[in-house]
Amino acid sequence: MPYVKEVFDYLRRTSPSQNEFYQAAEEVLESLRPLMEKYPKYRQHKIIERIVEPERQILFRVNWVDDKGEIQVNKGFRIEFNSALGPYKGGLRFHPSVNAGVIKFLGFEQIFKNALTGLQIGGGKGGSDFNPKGKSDNEIMRFCQAFMSELYRHIGAHTDVPAGDIGVGGREIGYMFGMYKKLANKYEGVLTGKSLKWGGSLARTEATGYGAVYFAQYMLEDRGESLEGKRCVVSGSGNVAIYTIEKLYQLGALPVTCSDSNGMIYDENGIDLELLKELKEVKRVRLSEYITHRPTAKYTPIEEYPKGCNGIYTVPCFAAFPSATQNELNLTDARNLLANGCICVSEGANMPSTLEAVHAFIDAKICYGPGKAANAGGVATSQLEMAQNASMVSWTFEEVDAKLAQIMKNIYTNAKETATEFGEPTNLVLGANIAGFRKVADAMIEQGLV
Ligand code: NDP
Repeated sequence: MPYVKEVFDYLRRTSPSQNEFYQAAEEVLESLRPLMEKYPKYRQHKIIERIVEPERQILFRVNWVDDKGEIQVNKGFRIEFNSALGPYKGGLRFHPSVNAGVIKFLGFEQIFKNALTGLQIGGGKGGSDFNPKGKSDNEIMRFCQAFMSELYRHIGAHTDVPAGDIGVGGREIGYMFGMYKKLANKYEGVLTGKSLKWGGSLARTEATGYGAVYFAQYMLEDRGESLEGKRCVVSGSGNVAIYTIEKLYQLGALPVTCSDSNGMIYDENGIDLELLKELKEVKRVRLSEYITHRPTAKYTPIEEYPKGCNGIYTVPCFAAFPSATQNELNLTDARNLLANGCICVSEGANMPSTLEAVHAFIDAKICYGPGKAANAGGVATSQLEMAQNASMVSWTFEEVDAKLAQIMKNIYTNAKETATEFGEPTNLVLGANIAGFRKVADAMIEQGLV
């Protein structure tokens, strides 16, 4: 369809060198072809041209002083992409690979993900190229305070509500909240992922990982399958990976791998979850330490992965849960998974599969849950945290978890029914993209040209 191609060419021309953003946009725009053909109103209102342009992009300098007394300078980003459905909502990522294109891809995905939750939240994302690895607690605090000393003027409980992402967990949210409170002179639900002691929601920490497993469960149930007794592979060893592993155990599955950016663990008896939590959440050390406590497990550094592959996806499994980062799973990895009998991929990470890998999963008609649907449990539970903050109540873990499971079910049903409506019932990429887009686009039309 020339129209979609025109918009895509326009993006490449006007936002040069933003490869991750083109990739995310290409996947969504390709899926929209049948919708655009069926409903000319979206073209008349130039919704595609409008939706690919962020409403606002904020780029700022972050100065801070390290433990040696030296001045350090980083880049800070916040992209307020679309507010048709509610206040901008999306995480902050602290990682050296962060740049304008990465934040833009994450913000773009977030619009549709947030729409799929059925909750009143718009799309945004932010972060910094700051590398938290190896930094002292004091350095983390000083950086978070410096970052918030600019960000605070752009956010607010009814404007823009950031959360965590890679490199930003409970500790960082705490330091940023403290600085926001001091500068804005307001105690309000401006960030989610807060500590349970002062405004956080039970089950928020677990939500993304739990949600990705619920999503896999719903996809499998529809085909008369279940996770019980099945070997699963998980990548990453951060927030999403840890709680994916926890929920897999609760459902009787056997998660046998995890990884960090240096290498992977294969533990054929099942990952020792308590040990993993101790190493990653308490001691904050490298994953290679796992085998000093568990010598029967195998550690493979990334230099020893088979050429052109991610070692995680060479391990035979029934289901895979990519939970580390974007583009960690390429076409070769997809072929390895399929050849070894994997019938389910549920993405905890954002855009972990390359476009070629996504096409391989769709063509194979396996249960494939794209990140914007499968990992939406995190942001959905963030919205539940906002709701509790606004009404000054706290729900129990079981209440929040039950709401999370129901939201994941609704997302799955919505994506599946939309995919069926457009003639490809097993293609949840198509279903999720069209369902998310349609909700935002209709709201944009009803709210006029703003
Ligand atoms: P964490 O920082 O807690 O953990 C990230 C994990 O991924 C770490 O094990 C990290 O290893 C690994 N990793 C990061 N970058 C790379 C890389 N370039 N190559 C290999 N491994 C890497 O982040 P989260 O668990 O919160 O996030 C993981 C993914 O899930 C991201 O894609 C994020 O956007 C997505 N997500 C997170 C949500 C949340 O609620 N937290 C919500 C929805 C999506 P190392 O320590 O060596 O860097």
